[in-house]
Amino acid sequence: MSKLASPPCPCGSGHALDACCGPLLATQAVARTAEALMRSRYTAHVRGDREYLLASWHPSTRPATLEVDDAVRWLGLAVKRHVQSAPDAAVVEFVARYRIGGGSAVRLHETSRFVRQHGRWYYLDGTFPDA
Ligand SMILES: [Zn+2]
Repeated sequence: MSKLASPPCPCGSGHALDACCGPLLATQAVARTAEALMRSRYTAHVRGDREYLLASWHPSTRPATLEVDDAVRWLGLAVKRHVQSAPDAAVVEFVARYRIGGGSAVRLHETSRFVRQHGRWYYLDGTFPDA
């Protein structure tokens, strides 16, 4: 794929995929912030990249396996809040929208916790403010 043809990143950052989540998913770069990791995990969902989702999940909360539903189509991401609560801890609140098959759009509102270990950010867990 040529640089000129690099598509916009699915995470909605406004950057090209090659200049945003692409290098993270290709394990050529490490997320510098929890928000960058969160965005890359959204892009991994869009691409059905199960391996990346597991690798970016903290080992203490990581599931043994991960089901990715092929019928899910991700529609967009909006990051609402990114708070670095400690040197190695951060919270990212976001809304992601998706559709299953021909169903109506579903709104996923999550506040996720992230921790940094050995210079790498990991997803820890999430709560759902609307639930
Ligand atoms: Zn991105």
